Parts: sequence; structure tokens; C-alpha cells
Amino acid sequence: MSDLISAIATAQGKGGVSIVRLSGEGALALAARMFSRKGEYVPNVLYPGTVDCGSFTDYGMCVYFRAPRSFTGEEVVEFHLHGGREIARGALERTFALGARLAAPGEFTRRAYLNGKLSLSAVEGMGEMIGAQSSAQVRAGYLLYTEKLTAEGKRLQETVKECLAGVEADVDFPEEDLSADTREEVAKKLASIGEELGRLLGQYRAGRKIRSGVNVALCGRPNAGKSSLLNALLGYDRAIVSETPGTTRDLVEGETEIHGVLFRITDTAGLREGTDAVEREGIRRAENAMRSADLIVYLKEDGDGIVLPEDTPVITVGAKCDLIRRDNCEIALSALTGEGIAALKERMYEEGFGAENEGAYLLEERHYEALREAMSAVSAAKRGAEGGLPAELYAEDLRRAYTALGTLSGETASEEIIDEIFSRFCVGK
Ligand code: GDP
Repeated sequence: MSDLISAIATAQGKGGVSIVRLSGEGALALAARMFSRKGEYVPNVLYPGTVDCGSFTDYGMCVYFRAPRSFTGEEVVEFHLHGGREIARGALERTFALGARLAAPGEFTRRAYLNGKLSLSAVEGMGEMIGAQSSAQVRAGYLLYTEKLTAEGKRLQETVKECLAGVEADVDFPEEDLSADTREEVAKKLASIGEELGRLLGQYRAGRKIRSGVNVALCGRPNAGKSSLLNALLGYDRAIVSETPGTTRDLVEGETEIHGVLFRITDTAGLREGTDAVEREGIRRAENAMRSADLIVYLKEDGDGIVLPEDTPVITVGAKCDLIRRDNCEIALSALTGEGIAALKERMYEEGFGAENEGAYLLEERHYEALREAMSAVSAAKRGAEGGLPAELYAEDLRRAYTALGTLSGETASEEIIDEIFSRFCVGK
């Protein structure tokens, strides 16, 4: 077992509870010296009692997890204290005085990984959950955390291994003339792996949106009602609403969740010929925002002459429908009465994210790159098998696919990748 590490596991500041966690050799012996309980410590049971924090005492609880049935896979002890910075710090320092050392960032999780409690993509999933900015991100992180991607990667690795076994037999015993059959079999299996990889890779667009949000630009002429619509979508007054055209000169942004997915909505300056330099700059920024948006909500007015970027999906809305009903708009809405706002949100979700993408969990660039590498290796091997190349030539591609897929669980990941992943965690995680 490793040496004894200790850290404050909860966010620091005032709170209901703070937790100091220890992992490694001697955790239980240390607990018996710091905590008032004198009898046996049954694993996974929270005992109430006093915690010796050096210059003061707190009344709290202590729990012991026996190796390997703990988060790290080692002997773990937690002290649950009152939630104050000084209390947690006192308890932490007491653990140092009794022989523990401060854990490095992510060291608890790293030990869990090294002890086979979590795969690398599960660790990343946990990171996604902790840093999540929307409930969709928590859901996707949870799927990673529960080894969904690792399981897929392992399954595909198994099939690659079967192909490799066939191919290697072919390399070793060419005189037995297995080649044509083996080649056909291998090509078939590789085609099905390719399809599965394609399906997984197809999630990435949605995964990126889960991670960083869907960018929506509101556009239309000055006074079309964009600021009012932004406020209605957000449910609070974010933008200034004014009868004077050209009031919104810079971009005003706000965030809202639709079915748990984060939408970043930008209220752009009204698109018209600017009358002064400041307004013209506002319009230039509006055009940039439109170009970089995933989705445009266009408040259409007759003859407004607005030209929208061609490749971006657009929802055309007829604003101020309490005053005027416009033709040729998908949704009639009123920021004043609230009519059409819910319908617009549904359309934004469908058009900007896509209901079919619920359950996507390919959100990390590292995972995407690994799958792309596997895809390119599998395609090369398939071409080799179909083209009747000597088996030893595409066996190398199969090994490359196997290695790429193994980086998902961490099995074949380099030390640098592993270090980089754990360095993202804070002390205590
Ligand atoms: P922007 O310049 O496009 O941002 O437009 P604003 O949101 O500032 O609105 C311009 C004017 O239209 C303001 O006087 C708003 O009160 C009014 N307005 C905006 N939305 C509605 C609406 O749904 N109904 C009515 N009756 N007036 C609205």
C-alpha cells in the first residue's frame, strides 16, 4: 500500500460539513489516535464523536473504508467536521502531525485509477461532472464515469484482437492457404467496427455542445425586439430594452438551459447601416457573432434586407405578435405576453442540439482523437484485407487500432496523457 496522504475533500469556505480524507497505509491507526472512538471500527459505518484538531476539538463523525473496498482501493478514513475553513484546516494539520502528508492534486483519484477502481475515461467523466455547467454535462459525465465509453472501447478492441489473431495465423502459416477466407472474415469484421466507430464519432458535435453550450445569435433590425426576447428567454432582465433604435451597441450575452443543455444567447446590435463609429463597430461584432453561432434566431420584419450566413441553421420568428401578425415566420411570439416563447425554446433545442443527441457522451477531445485514430487504422486495414495485401502489412494497422482504442481506458495511454488528466483535479480529489 502507498504512503498516507491527507487533504480537505470538500469545497473550502463556510458550509454545512467539511470532510478531511486520508488514504494509504496507517489511515485507520491515525483515526484511532485523532478520534474519540476507542472500540472497533466496522467498515462503512459513520461513528459520531470528537475529532482532535490540535489546538481545538470539533464534534463530528468518522468513517473507515477497508481496502480494497474504498474510493482509492486503499485503506481510507474520513473525518466529517463542521463546515468551516479553520476547522478543516485544524483537522488537516493534525493529520500531518500524526504522520500523513498533503495529497498532490488529483492524487486520490490517481490512486483509484492505479488500483483499477476507475478507467481513465471514467476519471475524465468524473471531472466533467465536477466541472459541469449544465445538467446535460453531468449526465454525459456520468455515462463516462460509469465506464460506458471504456466498455465500448474494450468491445471494439476484442474484435480487433480477433482479426489480428486471424491475420497473424495467416502470417505464420501462409502455406495453409487460409488467406482468402481469413481476409473476407477480417474485412467483414472491420466494416462493422468502422460502422460503430462512425456512430460514436457522430456524437462529438453534440458532445461539444454539451460541454461548451449552444451558441445562439438573435438578429434583426434595430427595435425588432431582440433585447426583449433575450430577457424573455432568460427569464430575467439582462438586456436594456429601449424604444430608441440602436441602443444595443455591443453584444449582450446570457445563458439558459433548455432540457438541461446550456444555450449561450447573444443579443446583437440591430443590423442596419450604422450612423456613428460606435454603432458600426457594434454591427461588425453582431456579424461576427452570427458567423460563429450554431443557430440564428431571426426576428424578421418585412423588407428588412438582412442577409444571413448560409451555413447556419435559422429559426425565423415574428416578434411582437400581440401587436402585429407576420407572414412567413415559423413562430409568432411576444416577449410582452409570453406567447410563443416556450415553442421557440423547443425549436431552439431541436435545431441547435437535436433530441436524438440525448445520451451522447463523446465530449472529450482526447476521446474523439483516439476514436479517429482507430477509425483511420481500421479503414487502412480493411483496404489492405480487401485488396489482398500481404497480411503482415495490415497487421500493423490492426495493432494501431488496438492501441488507439486502449487509450480510452488508459491501458495504452502514455504517462504524459495520464499526468495531464490528473493535473486538472484539485487537491483533495
Ligand atoms: P431591439 O432593439 O431589437 O433590442 O428591441 P427592444 O427589445 O429594445 O424593443 C424595442 C421596442 O419594442 C421596445 O419599446 C419594447 O418595449 C418593444 N417590444 C419588444 N418586444 C415586444 C413585444 O413582444 N410586444 C410589444 N408590444 N412590444 C415589444
